Amino acid sequence: MSSSEAAAAGGPAGGDTIFGRILRGEIPCDAVHSDELCLAFRDVNPQAPVHVLVIPREPIPQLADAGEGHRELLGHLLLVAAQVARQEGLSSWRTVINSGAEAGQTVFHLHVHVIGGRPLAWPPG
Ligand code: AMP
Repeated sequence: MSSSEAAAAGGPAGGDTIFGRILRGEIPCDAVHSDELCLAFRDVNPQAPVHVLVIPREPIPQLADAGEGHRELLGHLLLVAAQVARQEGLSSWRTVINSGAEAGQTVFHLHVHVIGGRPLAWPPG
C-alpha cells in the first residue's frame, strides 16, 4: 500500500507532528493497514523483526489526553493492533503505548506499538 493510497483510504487527518504529515501523505511510510479511523505502518527504527505503529487519524497527543469520547476509537486501535499482528504472522506480541516524555514518548501523536518476532524481555527499561 503506498503512502498516498493509505492517506486517501481514510478520512481527514491533522496534527503538526511527523505522524500528521504521514497521515496527509506528505512524507512516505510503509503502510500495512488503513481505514477511516486509523493508519498502521512500519516503524522506521524497528526494535524487533515486526514493529508496526497504529495511529488514529485524530491527532490526540498522548493517551493522557484521551477522554470518554475516545472510548470506541481506543478499542478500535487495539483491535487493529491485534489484526496487524496476526497479519504479520505473529501469535505472540507486545503492544505498547508510551504516554509522556518520561515514559519514552518522542512523537506526540498517540500511537500503539506492535512489536514481535523475537523473544521480548520484561520488565522494559
Ligand atoms: P515513541 O517513542 O513511543 O513516541 O515512538 C515513536 C516511534 O516513532 C519510534 O519508535 C520511532 O522510531 C518512530 N518513528 C519516528 N518517525 C517515524 C517515521 N517517519 N516513520 C515511521 N516511524 C517513525
